[in-house]
Amino acid sequence: MSQPLTDLKNLTLEELTGFFSGLGKERFRATQILRWIYRRGVTNFEEMTDLSKALREELVARARISDWNPEVVETSSDGTRKYLFRLEDGQTVETVRIPMEGERATLCISTQVGCAMQCAFCLTGTFGLLRNLTTAEIVNQVCAAMKDGPINNIVLMGMGEPLHNLENVVKALEIFYLTEGFGFSARKVTLSTCGLVPEMSQLGRRIRVNLAVSLNATTDAVRDELMPINRRYPLKVLMAACRDYPLAPRERITFEYILIRDVNDTQADAKRLVGLLHGISAKVNLIVYNEHEGSAFRAPLPERVQAFQTYLLDRQIVAVRRASKGQDISAACGQLKGKLERAQAKLPAPAVED
Ligand code: SF4
Repeated sequence: MSQPLTDLKNLTLEELTGFFSGLGKERFRATQILRWIYRRGVTNFEEMTDLSKALREELVARARISDWNPEVVETSSDGTRKYLFRLEDGQTVETVRIPMEGERATLCISTQVGCAMQCAFCLTGTFGLLRNLTTAEIVNQVCAAMKDGPINNIVLMGMGEPLHNLENVVKALEIFYLTEGFGFSARKVTLSTCGLVPEMSQLGRRIRVNLAVSLNATTDAVRDELMPINRRYPLKVLMAACRDYPLAPRERITFEYILIRDVNDTQADAKRLVGLLHGISAKVNLIVYNEHEGSAFRAPLPERVQAFQTYLLDRQIVAVRRASKGQDISAACGQLKGKLERAQAKLPAPAVED
């Protein structure tokens, strides 16, 4: 039986070097191929003109380079673009390009199909975890989006909990940082976690990346309800892990805080939040809850949002309001997938609860 072809987008520089040594080839072949794949976007060995014909033929027999194009693209009036990709096993995954000032763009990528974490405010959580994405599937989201224009920042905040797929995520980060490839600096890549404490520590030891923690509550009672992971790693444990997380000078951990009406948007919450962040080099991203089809929560009143932010700013905590982009498309994570799958299965949309 013939060997399955190795997808070269699954391999880090070290692994690719090993792959070429296994073929009895020179080490520099690895960097040569990486330049073709990630700098020039070439996925066909025949086009790699600085490789000998014999090597190209050998590669065709043993390897492949996966190449993605989106099945669906939704573009919002503010320029946010959401891509839905069909994977080789028929699953789907989504990626969002968010325009920034000037020509700049941030890409929000997924790391799993579905998610096991079951956060109450998140549509992806309702699908459960179907499977981890491979390294190639994480990397291909960036490759495909770059066909539409340059990407300046990457955020691992799409479907899935990145630290629940730690091995493939660390490899994908290594590939993002390759000087022979995309060449992203670690300052341009942010990983957001719901708070898997042991994996957070492992991540900090293994690779540099901006860390964002999805916090969303200031008491265990509320966080237990919003984010079931809190029952395993309660606030005290989570905040201790944040205090221990290795940071470069002037680096901060970002705390994501989705403001939800009457759930976590009071002055008492703001006060407790200041206490929780004590001793941590932190920045708070305040996100106004985006009510959507089927959501159980309400958006906060604008005056509550203002008061919450002012309370933090007055206590010297950097607190920014993250603009909610792509409101007119399926903006929250998992929504495009939800819509597509409902359409395919001809299911009614879930009822809106009060
Ligand atoms: S918010 Fe993130 S961690 Fe929580 S269920 Fe959704 S995708 Fe998973």
